[in-house]
Amino acid sequence: MREIIRQGLIEMGLDKRVSPIAPEHLTRYGLMLLEKNAVMNLTAIREADDVARLHMLDCAALLGCCDFAGKRLLDVGTGAGFPGMVLKILTPSLDVTLLDSLQKRLSWLDEVIAVLALQNIRTVHGRAEECAAESGFREQFDLVTSRAVADLRVLCELCLPYVKVGGQMLAMKSTGSTEETDAAGRAVSILGGRMLPAYDYVIPGTGIAHRVVRIEKIAPTPAKYPRRFSQIKKSPL
Ligand code: SAM
Repeated sequence: MREIIRQGLIEMGLDKRVSPIAPEHLTRYGLMLLEKNAVMNLTAIREADDVARLHMLDCAALLGCCDFAGKRLLDVGTGAGFPGMVLKILTPSLDVTLLDSLQKRLSWLDEVIAVLALQNIRTVHGRAEECAAESGFREQFDLVTSRAVADLRVLCELCLPYVKVGGQMLAMKSTGSTEETDAAGRAVSILGGRMLPAYDYVIPGTGIAHRVVRIEKIAPTPAKYPRRFSQIKKSPL
């Protein structure tokens, strides 16, 4: 796993930009993931090489689309820590909040944080549409990431309220997401965002092309958003 990660970072031109200990720490994290996955449902990916490529390198590719150093980042629907935990390991100066509605995954992430002795990273248990009303959360983050959580129209309402004006929402999607992205144009502008050019990449060693949909926050999100989840689902913006 370590060698695949190390080579992949070189191939993506990221090796000089990340913490030198990152391949070691990502491997440790990946092995903990596979070990825990035997008793808790954390990932459908069961092979170590696939964890290295489809989780670690896929998430590392985000570093190609903007500068993460010293920023404050929220990962919405982090699950087993993707992409938030990977980004923290790669960029130690990043301040990371991992948000999920499933406590048992967060408890496991707390163990990973302790084992790797990571600082300025925390887990928060809650639903994205509810925590956005709390002070200390709303419009407080430079970057808000999300992978495999919801359709982009829904995701924008879950994520954009957290982004500071001038910050960005980064949604990890496939390159086949053009229609989904086009359909989210209205939601983006209602919520105070502006679509930036997407960032496409190929995960090293796979031929799989993925896309980061980038949305810049240009105005505060109106106070009535996010709505309750039932409403968001029933009538997405
Ligand atoms: N982002 C991770 C990844 O790419 O491997 C996990 C993806 S998993 C398919 C979706 C995660 O989003 C789950 O852990 C689920 O609990 C969480 N989730 C879904 N809706 C949410 C919401 N409204 N607020 C917070 N977490 C949510």
